[in-house]
Amino acid sequence: MTERVDERLERAFDKRTATALGKLGLATVGDLLGHYPRRYADPGALSDIAALQVGEHVTILARVEQATVRPMRNRNGALMEAVVTDGSSRLSLTFFGKHRGSLYNHEKRLVPGAKGLFTGTVGLYRGTRQLTHPDFTLMGEESDLDSDEALLEHATKPIPIYPAAAGIPSWKVQGALRVVLDTLADDDVPDPVPSDVRQRQGLPGRAAALRSLHRPATLQEAYQARHRMRFEEAFVLQAALAQRRARTAAEDATARPPLPEGKPSILADFDASLPFTLTDGQRQVGDEIAAELASPRPMHRLLQGEVGSGKTVVALRAMLQVVDAGGQAALLAPTEVLAAQHARTLRALLGPMADGGTLFGAERTGASTRVALLTGSLGAKARKEALLQAASGEAGIVVGTHALLSEHVQFADLGLVVVDEQHRFGVEQRDALRAKGRVSPHLLVMTATPIPRTVAMTVFGDLETSSLTEVPAGRAGITTVAVPAGNVRWTDRTWARVREEVDAGRRAYVVCARIHPDEEPAAGPGGLKGTGAKGTATTRDFDDVPEFLDPSGPGAEGAADRPPLRAVLEVVEELRSRPELAGVEIGVLHGQMPPDQKDAAMARFASGEAPVLVSTTVVEVGVDVPEATAMVIFDADRFGISQLHQLRGRVGRGTDPGLCLLVSDAEPGSPAYARLEAMTQTTDGFKLANLDLELRSEGDVLGAAQSGRASSLRLLRVVKDAGLIEEARTAAADVVSASPDLTEFPELANAIRAQLDEDQEEFLERA
Ligand code: ADP
Ligand code: MG
Repeated sequence: MTERVDERLERAFDKRTATALGKLGLATVGDLLGHYPRRYADPGALSDIAALQVGEHVTILARVEQATVRPMRNRNGALMEAVVTDGSSRLSLTFFGKHRGSLYNHEKRLVPGAKGLFTGTVGLYRGTRQLTHPDFTLMGEESDLDSDEALLEHATKPIPIYPAAAGIPSWKVQGALRVVLDTLADDDVPDPVPSDVRQRQGLPGRAAALRSLHRPATLQEAYQARHRMRFEEAFVLQAALAQRRARTAAEDATARPPLPEGKPSILADFDASLPFTLTDGQRQVGDEIAAELASPRPMHRLLQGEVGSGKTVVALRAMLQVVDAGGQAALLAPTEVLAAQHARTLRALLGPMADGGTLFGAERTGASTRVALLTGSLGAKARKEALLQAASGEAGIVVGTHALLSEHVQFADLGLVVVDEQHRFGVEQRDALRAKGRVSPHLLVMTATPIPRTVAMTVFGDLETSSLTEVPAGRAGITTVAVPAGNVRWTDRTWARVREEVDAGRRAYVVCARIHPDEEPAAGPGGLKGTGAKGTATTRDFDDVPEFLDPSGPGAEGAADRPPLRAVLEVVEELRSRPELAGVEIGVLHGQMPPDQKDAAMARFASGEAPVLVSTTVVEVGVDVPEATAMVIFDADRFGISQLHQLRGRVGRGTDPGLCLLVSDAEPGSPAYARLEAMTQTTDGFKLANLDLELRSEGDVLGAAQSGRASSLRLLRVVKDAGLIEEARTAAADVVSASPDLTEFPELANAIRAQLDEDQEEFLERA
């Protein structure tokens, strides 16, 4: 960026204005230009007052109907009340003064008929909605609107409304921008979108777009400008991803071809010992991966698929091909429970093949390897042994959590990195692990649930994609029922059903949103996610975007007047005293338990010793107990759809039909209830993922999907802008292939660098 837009706002404005803008996070002229209006008010139409919510910070266009000043009854001072209207509804404005004289200025200005913008937080006083001491500006009286032209502009053009913030009303931001825009030259704002791309897409230049965004002559012009800025966001991001793809494609990797037939091969033995036949999808994707592993260029692939579609087997076969070829594979899992489970499954599946070459059966030919488990909470001795096995190459497969990323972990010859249930890991973490190979290891990333195409392009845009769409045949399916929380008959029936499952030799999960009855919802993988997304949503959405709700946020949808969330430790006590479950061993699992206790709880559940498990969402990711057939989810309406889908995927994994009971007190007809209804109607992950996207805020989607990316997307909406993202992706790929290091497109290179710095900063802040 040029000096002009780097200029600090303190130098451009008086101290008070600069400080107020600083509170909005605006430090430079560039920041200010990038502070887009949230929406536009039509100067010919008044705002809809009836729609204002108590507690909302609003900026409205309204007309003064009447104003009165009177002395205060019980104390000294005077009170002014003005009533504004949109023609049908009314809102009071109240101002307090030390004496009548101190309200004189307001009294003179707020005369019946005056029209203006009013801003403040909507309060409630004796049943009437009001703004207390609102900031306001009246049409035609702004002192800096002294020219006829400015006056006309004020009266007929769309009024930009900036994201609300106390201390600086929208029109002050508008005023500041007017000062900046008056002297802005095209050269002041370099354009990362090359001119021929712009031409082909019919987009205005960056400077012109900024002028239209902040000072549109018509709404049409503002929308065009917004479209152009959206395209830019998508384009810069896609160019960065295209560069990343190009860089990977140019890297060297060790080719790990499958062994020729007849040679001792763990993969061949594994395939022969599989208790089931692979689905067509598993075979097809498997072949695709096998071919890429055999190439001297690193594989960079995303494997996405329906819950229970058998991604683990596909990944395992890839790992074994690499081990057969003399390399090692690392499997990175998001939770300790899942890492331990993977290690257990792998050892079980490999059977004698996991004996490390020392205990061959008589009929075995000799191919074998070890599976090492490395997690953060391992004891010193076990940890040392695992580290040694990884470094010596004795362990062909190393399974672990974040602990694998530690610099102490070394591999003899790392050939493949598999990241399971990717959405909890960022690009940085993938890279940290890949850096442990002598040459670039191959990479396979697996998502937890299917994701819509544009999300894949945005969040995993540097990876090629494979999909598993079918689940293995012979699954009996899952019935999902929404259960009203307060209903005694339903509650009794729920536990009777759980008892029936247990008596039939099966297992049941009971999921709660938090651990302790008197604590906040459990954080991280053990509990609800997606807090704080609301704040960003307000600065992001426009009038044409539906009001986003935040389905997974604990504070969502009037949480204040609802019963508290059910907690693991409280529910387990309750279940232990329920007559329906008399004599049934009930286990507990949550993220705050020490790892060995977690392991033990999972093992007791899997074996059937404790066939009912009360847990947090720590079971959400990838846990696989084929005998589990029932799941009861408390406060189900507080979870996001994809999370519910992922949770539900824990049951019905064997041949017995699954049952999922969604317990909630959501009102029929509410958006929360609509989500639960969707869950009862389909088990199609793609359908649910699309619906989920429509219901979630973008920040939530992208934030949950990948750290550090949300910041770059301010206008872009992953669902609605699918077409635009595709176009930007094609255009960006063309530009990058024409000039791989972007020397011909310095403005684009700069924009990517600036974005990476910002992402990096955000990532570091979080870490
Ligand atoms: P996900 O894709 O959700 O990670 P998993 O890999 O955990 O699914 O597989 C789910 C279950 O299905 C596991 O118990 C696995 O052993 C089993 N499975 C995988 N592939 C097949 C198949 N082709 N036929 C039958 N069962 C299979
Ligand atoms: Mg899995």
